[in-house]
Amino acid sequence: MLDRLAAKEQRRRPSDDDLLDRALELSARYLDGKALPSSVRWVENQQHRWGSCTPDHGTIRISVRLRGMPAWVVDYVIMHELVHLLVPSHGPRFWALVERYPRAERARGFLEGFSMASNGSPEEC
Ligand SMILES: [Zn+2]
Repeated sequence: MLDRLAAKEQRRRPSDDDLLDRALELSARYLDGKALPSSVRWVENQQHRWGSCTPDHGTIRISVRLRGMPAWVVDYVIMHELVHLLVPSHGPRFWALVERYPRAERARGFLEGFSMASNGSPEEC
């Protein structure tokens, strides 16, 4: 019974492995495969940012608050962190790469709207 519930939960909520798969696919499609994360995982202790990364280690962390949001929004946050592995700061070069993801602008609007609606929710990294 518990196993079955766990399996159901698994289908509804992407796992850490799913996040890594998504990240590699996004990197291959939009970044010529240049961003190569070593791990991408969900974290609970990230209240103020949607995502974060450690470029030196190639690790990306995604806030569990994104769980249940549309896949293209989660993909945008993954994409944002992938680009940080290549370009640490939010300069023109950074945004030029992020904009390769077709729904980047729409996803940013979605997350901004969500932040406005629920006071004190995380901001974009
Ligand atoms: Zn950022």
